Amino acid sequence: MTSPHPTARPTDAAHLEDRDVDLPTELLNLPWIDVHNHAHTLSWDDRERYALSGCRSMVMVSSGYHWTPYKPVQASDVRYLWDDAINRRGAIERNHFFEAKLGLGIHTGVRIENPDELLEAMADYCDLEEVVAIGETGVTPSQHVSSWGLDEQRAVVQAQMELADAHDLPVLLHTPNTSSDSGRSYRPELGTPGYEKNPGLGQEPVIERENPALEAVKIDVEAARDAGLDEERVVASHADENNTEYLMAETDCYLSYTIGHSWLIGVDAADVADAIDEYGPDRIMIDTDCANVLRTDPFALKRAIFELYRYGIDEEAIRQVVLENPRDVFDIGQ
Ligand SMILES: [Zn+2]
Repeated sequence: MTSPHPTARPTDAAHLEDRDVDLPTELLNLPWIDVHNHAHTLSWDDRERYALSGCRSMVMVSSGYHWTPYKPVQASDVRYLWDDAINRRGAIERNHFFEAKLGLGIHTGVRIENPDELLEAMADYCDLEEVVAIGETGVTPSQHVSSWGLDEQRAVVQAQMELADAHDLPVLLHTPNTSSDSGRSYRPELGTPGYEKNPGLGQEPVIERENPALEAVKIDVEAARDAGLDEERVVASHADENNTEYLMAETDCYLSYTIGHSWLIGVDAADVADAIDEYGPDRIMIDTDCANVLRTDPFALKRAIFELYRYGIDEEAIRQVVLENPRDVFDIGQ
């Protein structure tokens, strides 16, 4: 064999001559949008990681009960979270150059004593230019510390959807996951390492049916219909194996796969690739849900871009999922 290389004897390079691969160089610089994270709770260095890996725009979600110290929660506690995010957003953009917009919502993971006060205040927040989504919200099968009846939760979720409709904003749904089971559990008094949450404070479920995580999503979709909100304005975050078929077949909602903490919820780029293969890229997005209370990875979305390609997804579909769909729905990252 004659080798074009001046190597002492043929190397792999000589054998591989005819097997040149087209590398997806476009993906190296493809801008992307993270439609669901809590980056305002992360460190400066973590936010810099978003910028370093090409994040063009993000929706920082301010609604989680993880950050309200008092339980049960009062409206003023959640309002403080919204105001904190508004207070810091501009400086975050100026530090890191990506666009940082806000999602404000009422999360049902813990009971709020006077939610009507929040709903009343929310209308004015919806008019702010930096608020691009309502959420994350959606009924939750069981709460932390103090349970919240299903009817009350549903009313709060539907009221937010009515506001979204009135203000032409999309809604980010928090769909509950059926966490992957490693087959072994940790000492109950310690809880799950990597998820900062005191164990033993979870309450009895308020959804008794067989598949509470899926039932919760169905109740949310019903609430959207009752609120008169177009389903294309609903983005179901934490899409997974348990809810993909229902959401794709029976609704017009978008599905956003959360891949920033795969170790916890078991969803990764392979699930996204499967969904694109089966349903096409038109209603699919990816988010990181990165937050300071979780072991999360700000590089997750960039990694997923490469991983999708390796799994056989073409560049055009990847671009649609990580950039164009979020642009269209949230009107950001233009
Ligand atoms: Zn979240």
